[in-house]
This record gives sequence, structure tokens and C-alpha cells, in this order.
Amino acid sequence: MPSDVPALPDDLPPALKTPKGGHGQWGAGHTEPLTPQERFKKDDDGLNVRARIEQIYSKQGFASIDPTDLRGRMRWWGLYTQRKPGIDGGLTATLEPEELDDEYFMMRIRIPGGQLSVEQLRVCAQISTELARDLADVSDRQNIQLHWVRIEDVPEIWRRLESVGLSTIEACGDVPRNILGCALAGVFEEELADPSDLIRELDRRFTNDKAFSNLPRKYKTAVSACPHHCTAHEINDIAFVGVLKDGVFGYDLWVGGGLSTNPMLGQRVGVFVPPERVPEVWAGVTSIFRDWGYRRTRMRARIKFLMADWGPERFRAVLERFYLENGPLEDGPAPATPKDGRRDHVGVHRQKDGRFAVGAALPSGRTSGTALMKLADLAERLGGAHGGRIRFSAEQKVVVLDIEESDVETVVDELAALGMWARPSTFRRHTMACTGIEFCKLALTETKSTAAVLVEELEQRLPEFDDPLRIHINGCPNSCARFQTADIGFKGMRVTTADGRKMDGFQVHLGGTLGIEAALGRKVRGLKVSVEDLPGYVEGLIKRYESTRADGQSFAQWARTVDEDVLTEGASDLAHAADD
Ligand code: SF4
Repeated sequence: MPSDVPALPDDLPPALKTPKGGHGQWGAGHTEPLTPQERFKKDDDGLNVRARIEQIYSKQGFASIDPTDLRGRMRWWGLYTQRKPGIDGGLTATLEPEELDDEYFMMRIRIPGGQLSVEQLRVCAQISTELARDLADVSDRQNIQLHWVRIEDVPEIWRRLESVGLSTIEACGDVPRNILGCALAGVFEEELADPSDLIRELDRRFTNDKAFSNLPRKYKTAVSACPHHCTAHEINDIAFVGVLKDGVFGYDLWVGGGLSTNPMLGQRVGVFVPPERVPEVWAGVTSIFRDWGYRRTRMRARIKFLMADWGPERFRAVLERFYLENGPLEDGPAPATPKDGRRDHVGVHRQKDGRFAVGAALPSGRTSGTALMKLADLAERLGGAHGGRIRFSAEQKVVVLDIEESDVETVVDELAALGMWARPSTFRRHTMACTGIEFCKLALTETKSTAAVLVEELEQRLPEFDDPLRIHINGCPNSCARFQTADIGFKGMRVTTADGRKMDGFQVHLGGTLGIEAALGRKVRGLKVSVEDLPGYVEGLIKRYESTRADGQSFAQWARTVDEDVLTEGASDLAHAADD
């Protein structure tokens, strides 16, 4: 608990909805832990678990791990136990944590801005092939996620990662997570500025910093000057969005975005942040979250709840009066309207220097260490003077930079041979899926293979369809693959069909979008689809959109305005769904 937390000013409107006994805000003096998570964080900083992993757990094995470290503090170093194979999604909510835990870990590698050198990618690939059963997932927060990691191998993995400047630190847990950036930062002809150095500075200064290693909840940052708004700033806890004010470059500050079971879009604070003040403003906003965030219950602990109660005006006043060393900020403009509906940088893009960036879609981010090694070889061979630069996007995509025009087709072909598609169908391009029941202990349904089947079916059934239609498949309400912001978003649940068969199913959210018309998807009562009806339902929906839309109307605009029965046609006939 910091000793210098200021009192809230008297002349600002009070926070709303204060429960009896308060929200558990440190700033209001509520420092006694109110949840088991707050207790273990107070007992010992999550970052301290590293020493025990290195000195005890990796030597004495899985059974030696303290349960609170296992299910709590190990996240501070990017480690979660993965789900024991074969446990039905219907049991997720009923089993004890130790019944769901496998003795293997998911390990998340932090990749600031999604930027990797060939050397770094090779190390990640080698770890995957040698120590993680040759599996690797590119996440929508520009991390690499490994699975099947043994506790015995963790120190060696850290040694290898750290030898090339990578880490798993604060990749999970109630801490500042990996910082998102544009996959084309520094090379994109249309960008307003290159924030890469700023992202690296934020990462260097504020990770492994005990001032910010006990936040009320996870904390997601995005920094970008991409005209396509590719980092989805609207759903980050804090985002700096590049703008021009009277011809001068700076950032528009957004705070309070986040999805999960209570989705909210971030709000503009209304300030113009010069690039050199971004670290100060980041530290100020994050300190407000640390001091005033709600620690009474995990369900309301994200900064979005504080922002929703305070509002941007009060938030700005507290920030400027108490948390900025260098005084108030000027008012700033809103970001320009984003360029088009595709934010993922898939395809071939001319760089500022005349070379080309080639972006490719992976099957819902899934790849292997073997493929990543070949990707590194390709980038090194054809990646010019930089020796090969690879980027991940915030849409589970990969981008290879610095390709000569004469080599572009070679790169496109070789990527395709690795299962990375630079010219994918719209379905292959825009379908995302979270980890799902394969490894996630919270999952109710399978996701990545469901997405793969759906993509193949839709490619066959609707080969001509080419609108930028985003389909996001999630295994539970936590929305790691952002179902509320998809054109068609699926939230996993268990369902029972009319003839009594239990299977995976999904609640359907329609018309979610980010950008100029940012809105969360529409939920229609009773609109649920079993996994076996999924391709048929989506096919029918797209056909109805094509036949009834107005000229130029996007899918999201159409889905938000048509009658409910147009959307529910083809939904499954269910006897029961988990949230009925
Ligand atoms: Fe797991 Fe749910 Fe997140 Fe999917 S959305 S990865 S099932 S927590």
C-alpha cells in the first residue's frame, strides 16, 4: 500500500454505487484483504514466486508446489496450469481446481508490440519443439502461448528467453500485461508516428516494478498510431491513440475498456498527451487504478468499473491534480475515423522504404515450433538488411517485414506451405478463437477445432462471399476472443438438443464492431446454436444479410437493425442451454 495516496477532492462528485463498507479501495483506507486473491497478494508479491520456482519447484517437481503459488502467484511469471485432458465442459463449474489441474503449464511469452527478431523467434520455436510438444499459439494480445510445459523445464526456458531479451514476466496476473502495438509500426506508409520505442520504454520501466505488481485486476495497455486502429484500443484498460493536434503529433488517452461478462468500451479522457509524457500519464492512470480500483470483488475489479462510476471528467481531474508530476494536460482531439473494416494487416503492404510487409492468417493463431522455425528462416533469407523482422498482430496474425517486391510471391507461397495464409478467404482471415477446452480450465466448449471446421464449411458453401465478416469463437463468457465485438460472436455453453443429446453450443452475439461505430454485439433472446448446427446457421445468416441489406450496409449495421426473427432463423431447437 503506498503511503502517499491522496484523498479524493471534496469538490468533485462522489463515486456512485458505493456499497456499505466501501469498494475495498486502498485510497479510501480499505487495505484489509477482502478476497482470497487480495490476501495472497498481500502475503507475498507475485513476482517473488520466481525464486521458489527456480530453487524448489523445478527441482522437487509438481507435487512440491504450494497451492497458492500454483493457482495464484505463478501467473505473475506467465504460468497457468492447463486443463487435464478429457474433462467434459459440463463439469467445469462443478469440479475443484485440483481436479481440473493438469501437471503441465501454459506459458505465455511477453512480446511488447508483437515485435520479434529472427533470433528471438528461433528461440521461441526451439523451446516449442523441444520443451512444449511442438505447439504454439499466437494470441490476440501478441503473445506466444506454449502448452505442455513441465515445471522442471521452466528455469531453462527462462534462461533461453532472457538470453535474447524476451520474458514471461507479468504475462498473466493482476499486473500490466503485454503492451499492444501496430504490427506495421515503423514501416507503415500511413502511420502517424512510430511508437515502438515508447512501447519498449513503457515495458522496460514498468514491468518488474513492485509499484505496479499488485493491481486490483489485470491491466491491458495499447499504444498505436495506426490509422486502422489495429490494436482495438476501445477494449483496453488504457490506450494511447495517435492523433494530430494543430499538426503536432501526440496521443489521445482512453481508459476503461474491457470485455468479459460485463463488457464496456473505453472512454476518452479528453487530453492530448505529448509522446514524452506518455510514461508519466501511464504511471498516473495505473496508480489511480492501484489506489482506487475496487478490490472488494473480482467481478468489479477492472478499471472499467471505476471509470464507469467516476466518468471521464472526474477521472481527468483526479489524474491531473494528484497523479501527474508535470501538471495538467491540454485538451485533445479524438482520433481520426479508422481507414477501413479490416484491421489485421493481412496481405501485402508497401512499406515506407519501398519494401513490402506480408501479413498472414494462422488458423485461429495455432501453429507449431517447427513452422515458426521455418518462418524465422524465411524472414532471415528474404528480410533484407534488418536480418528479418517478424510481427504478430492483435488479431492472431503474423507479419513478415522488409521483403523485396520481387520476392513477395515467394514469401506468400512459402507462408502458405506453413499454414499461414497471406491471401485467405474472408472466413479464414477473420475467424478468431480462444484457447477453449483443449487447455483452458474455465472452458465449457472446444473452440479452435470448431473454428477450423466452420471456416472450411463456409469456404465451401459461400466461396464468393468476401465482406470483412469477423467471427469470434469463445469457450466461455470470459471473452478472451472478444465475442461482443465480432460481427458474429459465439459464447460457449453446454446445450442439450431437443432429442436429449448433450453437446457444445454457443450463445450468439451479433453486430459488434469497433471503430467509428463502435458498439457491443446484440444478444437476442433464445438465440443459441449447437456446434453441429453452427455452419448451417452462419451460412443462412450470411445469405439473409446478402439478400436484404441496404446498399453499402455492413453486416454489423444490418444485424443491429433487422428484426429478431431474421437473426434467430436457423437457431438450434434446444431442450436446455446452460444459462436458460
Ligand atoms: Fe478460456 Fe474462456 Fe478465455 Fe476461452 S474465453 S480462453 S474458454 S477463459
